Amino acid sequence: MNTFRQRILESINNENLQTALDNNTERRLKGRALAFESIPDWRERRQRAHAVRADVIDHLDEYLAQFIAKSEENGVIVHRAKDAAEAIQEVLNITRSATQNAEGGMQNAEYENRKIRIAKSKSMVSEEIELNHALEAQGIEVIETDLGEYIVQLRHERPSHLITPAAHLRKEQVAELFHEKLGIPYTTDIPTLTATARKILREVFLTADIGLSGVNFGVAETGGICLVTNEGNGRMVTTLPPVHIALMGMERIVPSLDDLALMLSLLPRSATGQKLTVYTQLLHKPFPNQQRYIILLDNGRTRLRNSPLKESLYCIRCGACLNACPVFRELSGHAYIGSDLSIAPYPGPIGSVISPGLLGENYVQLAQASSLCGACKEVCPVDIDLPKLLTRVRAGMATVDSGQWTVDNGGAGLSPATKFGLQIFARVATRPWLFALSQKFASLGTFLLAPFSRWVRLPAFTGWGLSKDFPRFAGKTFRDGYQNKSADGELLNRPAYKLSKPRFTTAHSNTLPLFDIQFSTELTALGGHVHSTQNPTLSVIQLLKSRGVDKIHLEPNTLDEILLRAAGIDFTHEPDPQITVGVTNAICGLADTGSVLIVDGAGDPLKASLLPEIHIAILKSSNILPSLPAAMRFVKNTSAAVFITGPSRTADIEMTLTIGVHGPKEIYVFLT
Ligand code: SF4
Repeated sequence: MNTFRQRILESINNENLQTALDNNTERRLKGRALAFESIPDWRERRQRAHAVRADVIDHLDEYLAQFIAKSEENGVIVHRAKDAAEAIQEVLNITRSATQNAEGGMQNAEYENRKIRIAKSKSMVSEEIELNHALEAQGIEVIETDLGEYIVQLRHERPSHLITPAAHLRKEQVAELFHEKLGIPYTTDIPTLTATARKILREVFLTADIGLSGVNFGVAETGGICLVTNEGNGRMVTTLPPVHIALMGMERIVPSLDDLALMLSLLPRSATGQKLTVYTQLLHKPFPNQQRYIILLDNGRTRLRNSPLKESLYCIRCGACLNACPVFRELSGHAYIGSDLSIAPYPGPIGSVISPGLLGENYVQLAQASSLCGACKEVCPVDIDLPKLLTRVRAGMATVDSGQWTVDNGGAGLSPATKFGLQIFARVATRPWLFALSQKFASLGTFLLAPFSRWVRLPAFTGWGLSKDFPRFAGKTFRDGYQNKSADGELLNRPAYKLSKPRFTTAHSNTLPLFDIQFSTELTALGGHVHSTQNPTLSVIQLLKSRGVDKIHLEPNTLDEILLRAAGIDFTHEPDPQITVGVTNAICGLADTGSVLIVDGAGDPLKASLLPEIHIAILKSSNILPSLPAAMRFVKNTSAAVFITGPSRTADIEMTLTIGVHGPKEIYVFLT
């Protein structure tokens, strides 16, 4: 029988998986630690973020009412779905009515005969409600467009990680898959594999009837939604198809744009080790000739909110707790299965709380997959006390009916022996000196057993010795090893990584003011190009000539159009997928991240900065601001805006950075 324990053993013994996991989590943790170096006040930010999320969950009804009212004012149609079935039905209804109302009007018979195509970007909520399966059963073609999601979809698998869906695979497996399913010659060259996906999915973006996305945050004060992606697929599916459906867990609200800026200073750093994700999109109004729908999903969240697991709703889905968890790092997401053997939609420490919290008894067993070492709490950017929540799930609190909750409900469903054990543990764990003493004894036990690791067999109790050697004596506890202590023994509460100093060199350092230097340094480090110029038109012409380009998509009032014509450069203010260069204004730049802000307007600058292979932005150097919070005022009254931080990128195959996925491969900023 394929039980949870058996699945765990299979994962541990799977050499490919172990190599893939090591590649992923180690680099993620190091990247995260490095990214947090640039915000020394991160502990204070984390506490503020916790307070914001707590306030939202405590007053969710009010914030939701405000968000819905503002969204509707913006022309967005909002639906609320109490469960998975309602959400799926809403998507089907929208799909049907939208395609019938499409230009020219599609008749019922035509609808029945034509396969509707949905281009989808990453959405964990859609995994939670098994949306793809339900849509495909209705004859609708659903194509995942995030590279990692596309890979797992081709393998008919669930994502194995919240952030890196194909983290369980090695490049040889992806190469075999693309060779078999896409018919390309076998190659393990990651840029070639990525370019193949880009080519196939570009056609999907341009022909999809509907774009379907998740939502990272909804902003109550504006009714806008924020999506963060690196590849550009999120921008494509929300921008190009005539209908956009955003699927959003109802708890993903922040009160204001200031609160959003706070969350955005923590989310990408925790998720991917970036100061800001390549594309941070804010969508307020639908684009011209587009309909936008938001489906707000409950599916157990109201019940969770009234339970001792309420704090799990503070989660912003960064995935850091998965990378930090010593158990997840050995297992990967596919080992997190329910008692019916289905793979849980949310794995890892947070998944072991919300999967049973939202979906019930089937996934309660996941909470056993934790050593309760506290590493997940240490890395959580909103300071969720995951060990506490995991022990509550173990104590049977995930499945008690709403209204019967009490934090000390005595552990419904536990055996007397387990209750006794937990009582002893509670006494030890709540007395620091006793807990420290117990760890010393445990260390001593490990020390004594380690020399006999090959002969010690404790499978009946622990599994140690059956599938792996008993651990070697570490000399200090996991927490001591994980955390730094200052000379006087004060806990610094951070990973004990050796960190290099941030790079800060630039060719412009003698001539540019401070913000320009920082902006230039940051963008250059990401692979972007920054040039100072007195005459942007001449500089752009020079660049275009050097690249052999004679036609561009140009935002009006950006360059001297007479000069362009005189130089033989043709231009259009309309999007054209054949054009390889787009030129836009940048409203402002962000010094600390090297980002530029592009807002919607005449000439479709959002598409000019997305569809071509090269994006050129013209930025006044006086408009470079220190960081994101200062730029939020420019976003507030736009119909849509995007902060662009470097060229499009992915690390979905073996954590290997590859530049140029769906968005531009190159970005040039001309500072005037
Ligand atoms: S629980 Fe915290 S660390 Fe884990 S995914 Fe959620 S926000 Fe990130």
